[in-house]
Amino acid sequence: MNDCIFCKIVRGELPSAKVYEDDDVLAFLDIGPIVKGHTLVIPKAHYDPLPAVPAAQLAKVMAVVQRIAQAQLNGLSADGVNIHQSNGAVAGQIVPHVHFHVIPRFANDGHSWNWRAGGYSQPEEMKALAEKLRAAL
Ligand code: AMP
Ligand code: ZN
Repeated sequence: MNDCIFCKIVRGELPSAKVYEDDDVLAFLDIGPIVKGHTLVIPKAHYDPLPAVPAAQLAKVMAVVQRIAQAQLNGLSADGVNIHQSNGAVAGQIVPHVHFHVIPRFANDGHSWNWRAGGYSQPEEMKALAEKLRAAL
């Protein structure tokens, strides 16, 4: 993908603060961190959205996500870690190359998720949605 900024980072055409690299996976610092140390983990090959990533490739990416989370806990003395991943503009995705945000969290780091917990009017509504999803698997 010629115009993809993450592909440009993979090819070395744009600078990045690399944290980890192997043949399939790259991890680098997010330029606009929610919390300092916020790291992006990507497959080097261009895939989008998440379901397009071959399972074997995704497993390699997730292994690095896990290692980065551990490094944030050990190396940055983070108190916790958030993993975040968006698909589609409606979901807040800006860069259309699959990536996982690995965000170190500290007490009083100033960030809080704007998480609005909703609800279901009837148990039947939940059951119907679960059934719809099961049928689509
Ligand atoms: P998303 O909304 O999940 O698509 O997030 C894209 C992320 O990429 C944002 O958090 C940006 O700060 C980050 N980003 C964009 N350009 C760069 C870049 N050149 N180097 C590092 N991070 C970047
Ligand atoms: Zn790309």
